[in-house]
Amino acid sequence: MTPDLHNELTARKAELLSFLKGTSLATGAQPPTVKRVPRAGELSLSFAQMRLWLLNELERGSVAYNLPSLVHLRGNLDLAALDCSLSEIVRRHEILRTYYSSAGGHPVPMIASPEPFQVSVVDLQGLSEAAREKEAARLALVDARQPFDLGKAPLIRATLLKLAAEEQVLLLNVHHIAFDGWSHGVFLKELSVLYKAFLQGQASPLPDLPIQYADFAAWQREWLQGDVLKRQLDYWKERLSGSLPVLELPTDHPRPPAQTYNGETVSFVFSKTLTDALKSLSQREDVTLFVTLLAAFKVLLLRYTGQVDMLVGTPIANRNRAEIEGLIGFFVNTLAMRTDLSGNPTFRELMQRVKDTALGAYAHQDLPFEKLVEELNPKRDISRSPIFQVMLSFLSPAQPLELPGLEPSRLEFHGEGAQFDLSLYLGETGQGVTGWFSYNTDLFGKGTIERMVEHYRTLLEGITARPESKLSELPLLTLPERHRMLVEWNDTRVDYPEDVLLHQLFEAQAERTPGAVVLAGPSLTQASTSQASWTYAELNQRANALAHYLQTLGVGPDVLVAVCMERTVEMVVGLLAVLKAGGAYVPLDPAYPRERLAFILEDTQVPVVLTQQRIAPFLPGYHGRVVCLDDPNLQVEIQKLTGDDFRFSSNSGDASHLAYVLYTSGSTGKPKGVEICHRAVVNFLSSMRAAPGMAAQDTLLSVTTPSFDIFGLEIWLPLTTGAKVVIAPEEVTRDGRELAALMRQSGATVMQATPSTWRLLLESGWEGNRHLKILCGGEAWPPQLAEQLLPKCASLWNMYGPTETTIWSTLHRVTRADAAVPIGRPIANTQVYVLDGRRQLVPAGVVGELYIGGSGLARGYFARPELTAERFVESPFAANARLYRTGDRARWLPDGTLECLGRVDQQVKIRGFRIEPGEVEAALARHPAVGQCVVVARDDARGEKILA
Ligand code: AMP
Ligand code: MG
Repeated sequence: MTPDLHNELTARKAELLSFLKGTSLATGAQPPTVKRVPRAGELSLSFAQMRLWLLNELERGSVAYNLPSLVHLRGNLDLAALDCSLSEIVRRHEILRTYYSSAGGHPVPMIASPEPFQVSVVDLQGLSEAAREKEAARLALVDARQPFDLGKAPLIRATLLKLAAEEQVLLLNVHHIAFDGWSHGVFLKELSVLYKAFLQGQASPLPDLPIQYADFAAWQREWLQGDVLKRQLDYWKERLSGSLPVLELPTDHPRPPAQTYNGETVSFVFSKTLTDALKSLSQREDVTLFVTLLAAFKVLLLRYTGQVDMLVGTPIANRNRAEIEGLIGFFVNTLAMRTDLSGNPTFRELMQRVKDTALGAYAHQDLPFEKLVEELNPKRDISRSPIFQVMLSFLSPAQPLELPGLEPSRLEFHGEGAQFDLSLYLGETGQGVTGWFSYNTDLFGKGTIERMVEHYRTLLEGITARPESKLSELPLLTLPERHRMLVEWNDTRVDYPEDVLLHQLFEAQAERTPGAVVLAGPSLTQASTSQASWTYAELNQRANALAHYLQTLGVGPDVLVAVCMERTVEMVVGLLAVLKAGGAYVPLDPAYPRERLAFILEDTQVPVVLTQQRIAPFLPGYHGRVVCLDDPNLQVEIQKLTGDDFRFSSNSGDASHLAYVLYTSGSTGKPKGVEICHRAVVNFLSSMRAAPGMAAQDTLLSVTTPSFDIFGLEIWLPLTTGAKVVIAPEEVTRDGRELAALMRQSGATVMQATPSTWRLLLESGWEGNRHLKILCGGEAWPPQLAEQLLPKCASLWNMYGPTETTIWSTLHRVTRADAAVPIGRPIANTQVYVLDGRRQLVPAGVVGELYIGGSGLARGYFARPELTAERFVESPFAANARLYRTGDRARWLPDGTLECLGRVDQQVKIRGFRIEPGEVEAALARHPAVGQCVVVARDDARGEKILA
């Protein structure tokens, strides 16, 4: 035993003893010693054995409870001595030759009389060295996967793979019903002693065992009853009271409906320096190394899940009675270590909490876990293990195997199954703390677990450097990982015309392609059925004229002008003219409920509203200037002002002035105006031209209401590229068949819409168009949408972005339909971060809140400084930079794309409208009859309600 190990064990024992002194266990109900029971009567199974036996009955042929191990032996092996040694071990330990006869579904342990044990030998010496190793590995697996028949003794087998004259591998396999980790140590120790003695022709120097496993089983059945059982149960029932937490580790794959046991492992070694630091910290804080490592593991899980009620299982050797220390058998028990991590304590405080958890658990370790599960009878979710989902095992140091003339080395062999979502095995070797994670491969990919190892290491280093840190402050990310998130995945810097205004981009285009058709769609000045079709020059000229007129009304930089119009070509003239005059437009959907229109007009105090004659009478309580673009008198006024220049020359501000203010819903139910400047839109458009892309020959069919910011893409992207926009009439956008017809008729090559609209199209039998570029975003994609759309288009894009960061901030080209659709990567000059509640980076794969920075950020909310300060926060990563808190839950996937996973709050989106929690209730309260439908908008002019 190394001195370190000795200290560790002494410390643990002392801890336990000092604790026991204060408990009733120690004072009153000292358990009786284990005594030998007669072998003539029926023997008992221990509780744990009973469970394994039942599991084995349920799943015949299962190898989940095989305990295989490997030893590599270099040197001259005496096979006869080995056989004799194993024979003697099996003779000494009845449990190894116990079998279980099943009488009417009830198992009865029967002890077979001792027989000579023979190691099977497989000679691989004929193979080449490479082939030998491969074959040895294969045979090891085959053996590990070979089930035991519990009805036949012995429940141990050994195979010797002869690799060369002086090189062999010993495969050992024992069923768990007769063995455990501690037993393995006993086994190796006895093997060392016996082999040495037999080699020298001596008799076994080992004293006979006074009691055997069967005696322990009888003792356990006898003792764990009545009051003793009740006291143990009461303790655990109290510890595990309330609803048990279910650990929600972020997985790489969707959780299978029923728990699976496919597993893999990732091993690691922590440096001697780190190990020493952990040990001296443990000493200073008067806890064991195990407690420190468990506390750190709990922090890791906390930081991965945000869960503070933390339950981790841990095996306990359960050899706390001298008389059973030397036995082979299934003694190991499982303890559920539940610790409250709330209140963001320091790590040092946590160490004490975990120490208390551990001491309490040790003092009640006699209650078999299976008994506890049976008693608690937790509501079973068959997709997870009961009580806890993650395990930590602290392995006692491997017992050295000492065989004269042989150089044994234990080979790592972790088996294949995974009993839990995740198990962490830790132990101490001369190198330092070493271990491995065993993980369920149906939940996690190897990369995720490899990163987890690094996070654990970083955390432990942080803990030893500053144990007084609060849990939230402890470092988790490695430097390369931080660099990836802060730099590589946000490397979006691209030049764009920073000082050009939005309408100037259009003017330049109009100069380049004056005769090209730019805009087609319903027109106010013509019969309602007819369509206008204008060239760049025509549109520009109309907008110039109206802009001059608006300037006479006082419109200039940062002056807001409401545009409350139906989706017509005139509306586009209106928007463009407001910009040219230097103003910023506030789009209002005429279908908005009256209160909403009234609120926005009141809030903005716009001096001018651009509208149309049919709608003007419905503008509630507005006293400013109402300009109807279909008023014949206005047409006369305006025609006088027509200027021929492509470029509108008067002062119209600079790129930091507002281009539009767009009202979205607010958490108090009051809409709030998002202020977007020219530069943000210009950057956005340059980025969109690169991807998803737009070219002069494209036609975009515009279907979105102008009160969504994404309408900005539909108009400004084509208008600044030389392409054409066709405006779909409002009623067409609500009818899948009509919309499909218009898509064909218009020759659309690009269309942007929310998932709801794409679904509407699909449901109406739309056949798709292999020249079409589909932009889909604004809300989460329903399942199957990708699968349905992919074959129906030229390319498919998921677009993500809040109004506050200008239309879209990330995008993803969708090429596969077999996984959740990511929202992709940030667009040009945009940064995205996934942060925890304390605004620190969370590791890839872990869910946090999405924050966005860069050129797209809004100036703020119109006249709402407090709300602006709350949502637009200082960037922790760059001086003088702001980030917008989206309220969206997201995570990085390992390839540097983002996945959006819903909201931090209760906000929902219905047909692209943001609806805050308060609003949903209000909407439902006002309209209880509509059930699941809520009124999201109302068209007073048409007396219609829009339901979703
Ligand atoms: P809005 O400002 O109305 O565009 O709403 C922005 C919100 O819509 C985001 O914060 C998300 O919650 C949601 N959203 C937008 N696009 C997507 C998308 N592609 N996938 C999932 N959610 C989205
Ligand atoms: Mg948006």
